Amino acid sequence: MEAIRAPRGTKDIMPEESWKWAYVLKVCRDVADDFGYREVQLPIFEHTELFCRGIGDTTDVVEKEMYTFTDRGGRSITLRPELTASMVRAYLEHDLRNQTQPVKLWSAGPMFRYERPQKGRYRQFWQVDVEALGVQDPLVDLEVIGLSLELYRRLGLSNLEVVLNSVGCPKCRPEHRKALTDYLMPRLEQLCETCQGRFSRNPLRILDCKNPSCKELTEEAPAMTDHLCDECREHFDALLRGLDAVGAKVSLDKRLVRGLDYYTKTAYEILSGDLGAQNAVCGGGRYDHLAEAIGGPFVPGVGFASGIERIVITMESQGCSFGEAPNCQVFLVSADQDLEVRLAVAGVLKELRSLGVRADMDYSGKSFKAQMKLASQKDVPWVCIIGRSELEKSVAAIKDMGRGNQEEAPLSTVAEVIFRKIAGEVR
Ligand code: ATP
Ligand code: MG
Repeated sequence: MEAIRAPRGTKDIMPEESWKWAYVLKVCRDVADDFGYREVQLPIFEHTELFCRGIGDTTDVVEKEMYTFTDRGGRSITLRPELTASMVRAYLEHDLRNQTQPVKLWSAGPMFRYERPQKGRYRQFWQVDVEALGVQDPLVDLEVIGLSLELYRRLGLSNLEVVLNSVGCPKCRPEHRKALTDYLMPRLEQLCETCQGRFSRNPLRILDCKNPSCKELTEEAPAMTDHLCDECREHFDALLRGLDAVGAKVSLDKRLVRGLDYYTKTAYEILSGDLGAQNAVCGGGRYDHLAEAIGGPFVPGVGFASGIERIVITMESQGCSFGEAPNCQVFLVSADQDLEVRLAVAGVLKELRSLGVRADMDYSGKSFKAQMKLASQKDVPWVCIIGRSELEKSVAAIKDMGRGNQEEAPLSTVAEVIFRKIAGEVR
């Protein structure tokens, strides 16, 4: 029988990598804390309706990528493909309108999309998601973009490009839509099949097509930013001035769209020059009419989501630091293999651990020499050796693996002595 393997598009995060994830998530948490965003944990599955209405029926995510199933109670359930719709649902469900606005929330966890797996693209992947709900002030857009940039700065990422656009609002979009369809009409035949379908349903999304010939055809297409109403223009200008003032380098990209009626004004992405084809580390923007789309009142909002896998891949290719790996600090070696010696070793091990020292011992019956070899393989800075002769004198040997010198300490205080040595080290 063939051994069962993990489903296509999923990825085991093994110990060699998981500590890097923990580091990235810790930095996410620190930045969110510093910016006053509070963490929420939301369900991994929701009513399918939430995403159809909250993301939009004509998006790739909803049309092609959702993991949808009927549960035993006959309800249509979907594994969340993203977090924004759930965030807004939770905001409404918990009456957060009664709190000071904006309500600033963040969360991180796995998302699910049925996509063609490739480097940086999985069927289960993690996002960190940040949302500010309840106000339309462009300074909040500025804060959200600033938060994502600060996150990447702290993670040490370089070679990033911020691309920005305004997708207007339901007031100014019809005029642009008209100009766009007038422009596209005579070129309709030359567009790809998908875009021909988009033409009547959601022409804005044609600008987003990755097909080279569609890209070329829409090169000169009317830009949304040339059709913004006064309110959207003012909002966009304020954001641009703000970004300029904080020294953020952004490029405007009229092709960047969210393509749905409830997405408004700001749309942005952060691209990494070191990711290859899947080059977006972050996507975000404003969605002032999403709450209404899912049956709530008017609640404006702005936020972003960033893929953890893509952050880790970019950090690795740029040689960024993931902090210190949680390596063992002290390895305890039994110089003799009898139970009394090994119990003494286990006793010191327990004391070290209760002092918060990362310590370990061998449980596989290795010889003294093999245990010492293991300690140097693990690159452990300190080794504590106890054998029959040490037990007779009630002492333990402490070996400084860096310098190679060895000293003795009373068995009753050896854990404390090692603890102080480690605490005194400047690392
Ligand atoms: P893409 O253009 O790469 O498909 P997207 O526009 O679908 O991205 P968003 O929905 O904006 O992505 O999600 C925000 C971020 O989540 C992306 O910038 C990316 O870092 C990450 N992401 C999205 N889909 C995947 C996936 N299938 N696997 C890994 N990360 C992903
Ligand atoms: Mg996608």
